Amino acid sequence: MYPKAFQRLIKNLSSLPSVGPKMAERLVLFLFKQDIEKIRDFAENLLEIKNMKVCKRCFNIAESELCEYCKDERRDQHSICVVEEPLDIISLERTKAYTGLYHVLGGVIQVGDSGAELKIPELISRIENEKITEVILATNPTTEGDATALYLKRKIQTLEGVKITRLGRGLSTGADLEYADELTLSEALTNRKELL
Ligand SMILES: [Zn+2]
Repeated sequence: MYPKAFQRLIKNLSSLPSVGPKMAERLVLFLFKQDIEKIRDFAENLLEIKNMKVCKRCFNIAESELCEYCKDERRDQHSICVVEEPLDIISLERTKAYTGLYHVLGGVIQVGDSGAELKIPELISRIENEKITEVILATNPTTEGDATALYLKRKIQTLEGVKITRLGRGLSTGADLEYADELTLSEALTNRKELL
């Protein structure tokens, strides 16, 4: 039987996604062998996570009211790239092929779910208020991602002067933007197609 502190930490770690009890045990034993500075730094960084905010404009992770992309006036202020999660922004930024703004939906519309919790009304009002001329629908090329893109297209189509595009077909169906390599993603951005 492990000491109580070990058991509690094993429980903490095994509650994380993709970490099973065996892996949690190994991690705890690994941490036990580290020096105190390293552990303190780890613990402080862990607490710091809760100081992060959600950008009030695009719903990306932010250090203050607005995220770094919304704050950056050099970015194209008339283009919005719509993604499912903040991690997708990291992948797209790595390509350096996009310099506009983002909008994080917070997921996709699932079968039998209206998607009421998604930031869709916020997206529509941004398109109207920020004089947006292009919306890139960059939801994942999965069944749900495609359905969500189609739903958004129908909503946005009613607004005037907005070009709606979808990432090019370089991405394989069912893939996740998060795991796509830079070149593929960069080509998918460059070859984005207008949805008519
Ligand atoms: Zn933002």
